Formats: sequence, C-alpha cells, structure tokens
Amino acid sequence: MTKHTCYVCKKIFTKAIYWYDSLHDTKYDKRIIRPFCGPPCANQYREMSDENNYPQRRPLPRGPEWQIIQDINYIQYESD
Ligand SMILES: [Zn+2]
Repeated sequence: MTKHTCYVCKKIFTKAIYWYDSLHDTKYDKRIIRPFCGPPCANQYREMSDENNYPQRRPLPRGPEWQIIQDINYIQYESD
C-alpha cells in the first residue's frame, strides 16, 4: 500500500481518501497529486491554495499520465 505524506501537515499515512489532483486544474502542465490525511487538512488546503482562481481543464487531457485516478492507495504518483 502506498505511503502518503500529507501535503498540509506532513504526516505520513496510508488509506488516503482526500487528495488534490492537477488533472482538473490548468495551473500545472503535469500531473501532481497532493494527498491530505483527513478533512481538516483538505479544508485547510482549500483555504490556503489559489487553485480555484485557475480555470478548469476542459477538455480533459489524454494520455497515460492523465488517466482518471479513483484511488491513490495502490499507485505511484508524483507530488511536490
Ligand atoms: Zn494532514
């Protein structure tokens, strides 16, 4: 199972339910996943990030890097 580092509090954990995915966001031209350990960190991220200021990516990009991710607990991904 993948070990995640919470983007907000840096806690290491497994079984991520919340994450940011740059698939939907025109701010980044590559795939970035930012896991959050739980709702408080996910909410805090929403408040501190400016991602909502960028338009949604439409249509969604194609290619292996841009597959829809349903679950990040069994994959390798790039974070920052
Ligand atoms: Zn956290």
